[in-house]
Amino acid sequence: MAQRVYNFSAGPAALPLPALEEAQKNLLVYPGAGASIMEISHRSKQFAEVLAGAKDNVQKLLNLPENYKVLFIQGGASLQFSMIPMNFLGEGKSADYILTGSWGNKALKEAKKSGTVNVAWNGKEEGFNRLPQQDELKLDPKAAYCHFTSNETIEGVEFFVEPETGDVPLVCDASSDILSRPLPIEKYGLIYAGAQKNIGPSGVALVIIRDDLLARVPEGLPSMLDYKIAADNDSLYNTPPCFAIYMIKLVTQWLLDDIGGLEEVASLNKKKARLLYTMIDGSGGFYRGHAVKEARSVMNVTWRLPSEELEQQFVKEATAAGMHGLKGHRSVGGIRASIYTAMTLEGVE
Ligand code: PMP
Repeated sequence: MAQRVYNFSAGPAALPLPALEEAQKNLLVYPGAGASIMEISHRSKQFAEVLAGAKDNVQKLLNLPENYKVLFIQGGASLQFSMIPMNFLGEGKSADYILTGSWGNKALKEAKKSGTVNVAWNGKEEGFNRLPQQDELKLDPKAAYCHFTSNETIEGVEFFVEPETGDVPLVCDASSDILSRPLPIEKYGLIYAGAQKNIGPSGVALVIIRDDLLARVPEGLPSMLDYKIAADNDSLYNTPPCFAIYMIKLVTQWLLDDIGGLEEVASLNKKKARLLYTMIDGSGGFYRGHAVKEARSVMNVTWRLPSEELEQQFVKEATAAGMHGLKGHRSVGGIRASIYTAMTLEGVE
C-alpha cells in the first residue's frame, strides 16, 4: 500500500499532511542541530525552542490567560485519570464525576482508588446516547473538583456547553476534542488530553492547569505524578517525549497558520460532521445515529446499520474503497467515523 488512505481511526488518528511532511523533511537533521530532534538533549537550545513553541501555540490557540500553565506529561490520558485524584482528592474530600460514556467511567474507577467520589449523573442505563441537563446533575457544592468528558470517543456524545459547577473547579478530559473549537477557558480548572487524536502522536498528554489548582497539590506525591513538580520544571523534570512534543508543535502551527485558529477549525469540523449526519438522517432509517441530535459529537460520528452482518460488510467495502478505521469500538459495535481536525472535508465527502 503505497498511498495514504482516508483514515477514520479513533486514535492514534490521522495527522495533518503538512505537519508530517515537515517532520519528514527534518527527520535526519533538525535545523541547526546536526541530528534529529530525537537524538539531541532535551535541554538543548533546539529542543527548548520546540517546547516553548508548542506551549506558545497552545496558549495562542486557546487564548490562555497568564494563570494557566501548559504541561506535557507522559502516560497518556489514562495516567491523568489517576493523577487528578492523587493531586486533588485527599482525606475527607469528595469529587463529582459526570458519566456520559466509557471513558468517564474509567476515570471514575481510578478516582475511587484515591478517595470518595460522587456520581453526579450517569447515562449508562440509556446507553450513553445523551448528555444531562444542568438540573439533572447532583452536584456537591463542596466537591474538590467536578470531572467530565467533553467528548466521549466511543459513544460519540459531545458537550457544547460546560456543566455549571460554581466555585468547584471543572476538570475535563478533552482527549478527543481538544483544539477542535474555541473554549471558554476561564470556566476550567484543568483540561487534559491524550495527544493522539487531534494534536499529535501518542506518548504524551497535554495538561492545561490553573494556578490555584497547582497551589493545592499536596506534599509528598511521587515526583512523576506531581503537577507542581511538572510545572516548576516546565515539563522537564525528566526526559520528556521529545518527538511527540515536536509533533504537537507542528500540528498546532498548522492549526494557527494554515487553518487560521480555532474559530476556523470549528467551522471546518462542523461542516464535516453536518455532512455525515445529514447522510445518516437522510437514509430513511437504514443508518441510525447512536447519539440524540443535541449531543452528537463533531469528532466521532457513531451509527448502526440494520444488522451486524451489514455492518461488517460496510466496513469491508469501505476499507476496499480506501476508507479505513470505520469499525466501531469493540465494546459497542456499529460504525464510527472519527473525523478529527486533520480529516479533510474531501475525506468526509
Ligand atoms: N479519554 C478519552 C476521551 C479517550 O478517547 C481515550 C483514548 N481513546 C482516553 C481517555 C485514554 O487515552 P490514553 O490511551 O492516552 O490513555
